[in-house]
Amino acid sequence: MPDCIFCKIVSKEIPSNMVYEDDVVVAFKDLEPQAPVHVLIVPKKHIRSLNDTTAADKDLLSHITIDVIPKLAQQCDIADSGYRIVINTGVEGGQTVDHLHFHLIGGRSMQWPPG
Ligand code: C5P
Repeated sequence: MPDCIFCKIVSKEIPSNMVYEDDVVVAFKDLEPQAPVHVLIVPKKHIRSLNDTTAADKDLLSHITIDVIPKLAQQCDIADSGYRIVINTGVEGGQTVDHLHFHLIGGRSMQWPPG
């Protein structure tokens, strides 16, 4: 998607602090971290939001949740202490970049409810 900032990060047209990459996913440090660990996990395929996923994305989504997130949590040393996964979706959900992404946030105690 030509005007998508995360597509440009995926293609390395825009630099990022990448911490993980495989055939279908990249993960990089958020530019405005909300916690000591704040990594964004981004499918290489442009999907606008969680609302736009289809059955064709099942393998991708299970790969992210079952393989990538636990591996990154270990890599970032927050697997045992705990962490939060956030998928902001749509305007009221707080989504500001229209390319599906998972926030992996940890390294401090989380509050509930979120703001
Ligand atoms: O969930 P939401 O769409 O608001 O998250 C977008 C995230 O992307 C923000 O946390 C923002 O700091 C991050 N970002 C980034 N690098 C960019 C643009 C946005 O880390 N170049």
